[in-house]
Order: sequence, then C-alpha cells, then structure tokens
Amino acid sequence: MARYQMLWDCESCGTTKLLGLTHRHCPNCGDAQDAKRRYFPAEGEEVAVEGHTYVGVDRECPACQTPNSAASGFCVNCGSPLDGAVAVPLRTDDSKVPLDSVPDPPVDETPALRPSAPEARLFSAIAVPDEAPPRRKKWPMAVAGLVMSAVVALFWTRDITATAKAHAWVRSIDVEQLTPTAESDWRDRVPSGAYDMSCHSEVRSHRQVADGETCSPVRRDQGDGTFTTEQSCTTSYRSEPVYDDKCSYTIDRWKVIRTAEAKGQFLTDEPRWPRVTLSRPGACVGCDREGQRREDYSVTFSYEDKSSSCSFPQARWAAIPLGKDFKAKALVVTGLLTCSSIE
Ligand SMILES: [Zn+2]
Ligand SMILES: [Zn+2]
Repeated sequence: MARYQMLWDCESCGTTKLLGLTHRHCPNCGDAQDAKRRYFPAEGEEVAVEGHTYVGVDRECPACQTPNSAASGFCVNCGSPLDGAVAVPLRTDDSKVPLDSVPDPPVDETPALRPSAPEARLFSAIAVPDEAPPRRKKWPMAVAGLVMSAVVALFWTRDITATAKAHAWVRSIDVEQLTPTAESDWRDRVPSGAYDMSCHSEVRSHRQVADGETCSPVRRDQGDGTFTTEQSCTTSYRSEPVYDDKCSYTIDRWKVIRTAEAKGQFLTDEPRWPRVTLSRPGACVGCDREGQRREDYSVTFSYEDKSSSCSFPQARWAAIPLGKDFKAKALVVTGLLTCSSIE
C-alpha cells in the first residue's frame, strides 16, 4: 500500500502545496498547519512518504487548532496539553470515485478512519429527507375516496319485488376424440407418450459468468497528513447463452370434437342427459369417449319493466313456483337483479 503526503495551503502567506506530514508549520511564515485545509494532490504531484509509522489520525489542539500527531501529549505549536483533543476531519477523495461507490475500508483500520461512509450518509440525508412531504399523501387520499364511492355506487342496491316467470334447464356432455397433436417443449419437459420427436439446440436461458475485474485506484485520507492509495476492484460479468434441446413431437390428446345438449322450458319437462352416440368407443387414436358434463337450471324473473334470469341448484329450481313474488334487490346503477338476494 503506497503512502503519500496530503497537501495544504498556508492562509497567512499564500504558500501552496505544503506537505501535510512534513510541514506542520509553514516553512515560509511559520504559521501552524490547518488540518481542515488539507487536500489530495493533483495527479502527478504525489509526494511519497517513506519509513513513516502510522500512529493514527491527528488530533486538533483545543487551544490553537494545530493538528498534532496522535502520539503527542502536548501541542507542537503552543504546548497546550492534548487531553480531550478531537481527531481532525478527514478529506474525502471525490475527484475520481463517487461517494456512494467507495468500498468499505479494510478491517485493520480503526472505525475513526472510515472516511467516506458517514459523510456520504449525512449527505444523502440532507439531499433526500426521510419525512415525506405532506402534499404526497393528499392526492392518493382523494383518489382512494373516489374509488371508494365508485365501488359503493356499483354495489348500491334497492328493494324490488321479482316475479318468477319461466323455468329453463340445459344439460350437456362433451364428446372427445383421441387426436395426434403436434407440440414442442424442452427435452426435460417432453411428456411420456410423445413420439415422432425431433430436437434441435436453442438458447434456453442466460447465465452470468465472471469476466475479469475492473479496478480503479482509491485514495484514503489517513488523517495524519498522509493518504494511501489502493486498488479497488469489482468483478465484471458477461452474459452467456445456455443451450438446450428444443423438441417437436406428436402426442395423442383427448380433444372435444362436439358437445351433445338437451334442454327444456318447463318444470314438467324432466331434466335429462342428452343421448350420446360414440362412433368408435375405446382408447385408440380416432376413438371417442364422453367428456365433461355440465348442467344449468335457471328461472326468469320479471320486475318493473325488466326481466333477468338466475341459476339455482336443481332442487331449489324445481321448488320455485311460477307466478310467485319474491323479495329481492337490484343494483341502483345498472338495474340488474342480484340473484343472491332472492328470498
Ligand atoms: Zn505561510
Ligand atoms: Zn496548540
């Protein structure tokens, strides 16, 4: 790890680029160094430090503000005891790396030496306040209110009297045929029973593969008039296609080829299943079988100048006499009968 001098400018006589470690006083006018005025040198102007033992961040003299080595007990400038002296502030090298992306310092450094993280946090706290401005909440509240009233309006009902006018029933049976069907899928997802299969390679997904490192030098203020440089590296990745076998195949599937239906209009017309005639019962290709069965029992109600029908379980449907009045509810907005409200 290379170590270099931080620089400072003398405010009293205007001498610039004084050395942070070597020049604790201005060689020109003798004024004491001001740790707050330390800065990183421009590129190419680094002055290396050899044989320096790092003892910690300088402490600022409580009497004259001169930075003193962490190892000193008394101020080199005025002789004041350094009991209770606080560490000088650290410079942040924002010339190259944005504050947020400066990696954490190595573990062997003391917590007082972490230069960037607390400052960065302070900065973002100022820029983006945690407390949301009150304006942000008013607008969604208004929208929520509108949505609420819209929902209430949609489900708003009024009492009506509905008269049962007609019964109807319908029952149906699907007829399915075992049919050779072309499909395609990845090899590990091809269902058993597939035949006439042909496969080819295709990109199925992408994976991220480590592809070297991107490194940049990071400068860290050590707080004692010096700074160190080290490489900060991040692994870069590239996307690599993952190939797999995509297969086209044929598989025999049961497909609905027609639906047989029976229906009636009267209670006296006893609900029954349609007659299904299979042309080739069995499990061969081209054979047929009965599939899903469906049934529906509905009553048409009239109310005011409208009519609407509702479905019921068969037993309840059969128990509804024609001409009888029922208390029910209709939606205020659309005027539709609410089937579940029929008593
Ligand atoms: Zn000076
Ligand atoms: Zn002093």
